[in-house]
This record gives sequence, structure tokens and C-alpha cells, in this order.
Amino acid sequence: MSLIDEVTVEFASGSGGKGSASFHREKHVPRGGPNGADGGRGGSVFLLADRHLTTLYDFKLHPFHKAHDGSDAMGNKNGKDAEDLEIRVPVGTLIFDAESGDTLADLAVEGMKFEVCRGGRGGLGNLHFTNSVRQAPRFAQRGAPGEQLQVRLELKMLADAGFIGLPNAGKSTLLGAASEAKPKIGAYPFTTISPNLGVAQSGDRRFIIADLPGLIEGAAEGHGLGHRFLKHTERTKVLVHVVDAFPLDETDPWTNFLVIEKELAEYSAELAARPRVVALNKIDLESLGDLEAVKKQFEQCGFPVFCVSGATRQGVEPLLHHLHQVIVEAEGEAEAAPIVITSLSRPGISQEWGVGKDDQGAYTVEGERIERLVHMTDLNNPDAVRYLHRRLQRIGVIDRLKEVGAEPGDDVVIAGWVFEFREW
Ligand code: GDP
Ligand code: MG
Repeated sequence: MSLIDEVTVEFASGSGGKGSASFHREKHVPRGGPNGADGGRGGSVFLLADRHLTTLYDFKLHPFHKAHDGSDAMGNKNGKDAEDLEIRVPVGTLIFDAESGDTLADLAVEGMKFEVCRGGRGGLGNLHFTNSVRQAPRFAQRGAPGEQLQVRLELKMLADAGFIGLPNAGKSTLLGAASEAKPKIGAYPFTTISPNLGVAQSGDRRFIIADLPGLIEGAAEGHGLGHRFLKHTERTKVLVHVVDAFPLDETDPWTNFLVIEKELAEYSAELAARPRVVALNKIDLESLGDLEAVKKQFEQCGFPVFCVSGATRQGVEPLLHHLHQVIVEAEGEAEAAPIVITSLSRPGISQEWGVGKDDQGAYTVEGERIERLVHMTDLNNPDAVRYLHRRLQRIGVIDRLKEVGAEPGDDVVIAGWVFEFREW
């Protein structure tokens, strides 16, 4: 029993900007030292849990989001970092890797934030590449590439309000009436609509109402509460006790009310302490009895009392308006909760690499770290390539290639680029 809203979305962070290769230029100074600045960082993509949102529908319209790239450095001025992209999702959004199906994060609490794609860092300027022998490097680094990830977002919607009451009190009918009471709703964005859950709208706010029949009936029979309702009662901020004001079996509404209240208290003191309202239902049958007398009886209940009819929708709007206010108030109290930043379950860059041979006889080097180094190298610049070579040498790639038989002049493929194997 749940309304499931799900979408597949692709996110991409920005690449880092290029570092610059430049030199001090001063009057009367023939050749200044290197002063090339760094490229800006690419923007990351974060998903942020926001309780004001209730659907993932917008992602169906915009299934791709990319943060900006960092700017390139200009001479001795650093490139600007790109702004992070912060995308709001409803509280309760689960994030899965679309390919592997792995759960990446569960944004269960307001303010929780998850970094889906980390921005590439900016390339370093030539200033960073000086050493005792290389005092004037004429190359800089390109920025690191951004990440791209396809994720499945799933929103398990939990009820803000719950209906309780005796069987036949009219809960299902009232739920239907409350869910329909949304005049300006467009295409219904959910994939599944359960008969026990409805989305109501009041003002600018949508909220979810669950019919919790099993709660009381199960408790009465000693079955306890079905798992499927547990989650809903956890988040429910207000309970609506639906009472048939004119029962056909001529039982007394007040006595019926007390039966359920007692069962609720026995079931869970915590749940019974939640804000509650009474909906005296079926008032369209007013001619069958004395509504004023019933209302008078309920004055002693201590909860706000609304007179409604699920059949005619009479009184439903004021009830929803009240629920809306109670929910907003309850959320306001929760606002003091600290912002939680989820720790990332994303693995870092793999340091592993290996060499092999492709079907055309070229040697290959694979591994995230190595490929990244190549991506960050300005391959048009011989100095930068020479620097890359030295890095590969230090990591042990050149020796390994020699071990497997690479000779000067052989092709070596890394990250889609073909290099000629040589020893500087
Ligand atoms: P639930 O068991 O609490 O979910 O109650 P239902 O919504 O299934 O309704 C039980 C019975 O009461 C059905 O026969 C409904 O047609 C009837 N009923 C529900 N709401 C109203 C109402 O507002 N007015 C009238 N006259 N009958 C209603
Ligand atoms: Mg029902």
C-alpha cells in the first residue's frame, strides 16, 4: 500500500577549467618566472530533501541536469569555480544507481543532502610544475572531467494525515472526497494509486491521507498493525477520527467514538497523543436524526469537531484546511532538526590499473586514475605530454609496458588516445 512515484534521471557535474601556462611579464624584466593560475572547479550536483515538495513529477519533464564547468584560468588569474547545482526533491526520496540498482542514499529527513556527481577539479597552472630542473614549465593541466550518473529516484509517500474509525463510518468515501477536492490538478503524476491513500490539496499545499482501517480493526482482534501501515503512522501528523453521525444500526455515535479511542490508546499511547480531529460524517442524512444533539455530545471530546459528508463533499474543504494547518504547524516544530549531510557511498577514484593488448596488437593501459591523468593532459603540448610520461613512469606504467614487451615505436592506447611508446 503506497503511492509510488518514480523516475529515471541523469545528472552530470561540471568539468574543471584549464590551468594556464603563463609567465611574469614586467617592464624591463626579460623573462619572468611561471605564474599560470589554476582552472576553476566544476559544479557538483546535490539532491536536497525539501518537505515542501510532494512529487518527482518535474523530473519527468526535465530528465537531465548538468552543473556548469569551471572556468579556465587566464594568465595569472584563477578560473572561477562553477556553482553547485542543488536540486530539491521531496523528503522520502530514495536514490538508486540506475545501472546497478544499488541504493545510494535515502533522503528521509528534511535538509538531507546527497552529492550525486562531484565536480571535476580545476587543472593546475604551470606554477605547480616547477622543480629544480624544470624552472619554466610551458604547460598546464586541463581540468578533471565531471561525473555522469543515471539514477532512479523513488518517492515512497508517507501519509501526513490518517483516518481512523469504525468500519462503515465512511472513511473510504471521505478519503475519495478529500482526494478529489483538488480543482486545479493537472495530469495525475503518480504511477500507482492505492485505494487506501489519497492526495489532498488545500491552498498551495498537497498532503497525503491514509485510510488506516487495519490499525484499529487489527488491534481489536489482537493482530497488531500490519507492516504496511507502520510507516504511515510514523509520519502521520494528525489523525482524523471519522464517526458515523447517523448509524443505520442505531448505535450511539458517542459510544462508537469511545470504542475506537480506547483501542487507539491501547494500541499506542504515542499515536493517541498526536493531534486529532473528529469528523462527524454523513451529515447529508441529517433528516434521519438530530445533528445538533450529536454535536453537543461531541463537545466533550476535547478535539476540534467538523461536520462533513463524504457523499456530498459538504464540509470537506474546511476539514482539509484545518488538516493543512495542523500539518504545517507540526512541520514547523520539526524545523529545528539539524541539516544532515549524508556521507557518500560513492567510491573514490580507483587507483588500480593494468596493461594489456587489444585485438590490433596495440598495448593498452586501463584504470580510472591513469585515464584521468590523460584527460587532464593537454596533449597538443609536448611539455605536458612529457610530464604525463614522467607521471606514468613514476606510477610504474612504463616499466610494466616494457615487461610485457612494448618497444619504442609501438602503439599504446590510453583513454581512447594512441601514444607512441618511447623512453625519454
Ligand atoms: P469505511 O468502512 O469507513 O471505509 O466506510 P465506507 O466509506 O466504505 O462507507 C460505508 C457505507 O457508508 C457505504 O455504504 C457508503 O456508501 C456509506 N457512506 C459513506 N459515506 C457516506 C456519506 O457521507 N453519506 C451517506 N449517506 N452514506 C455514506
Ligand atoms: Mg473502508
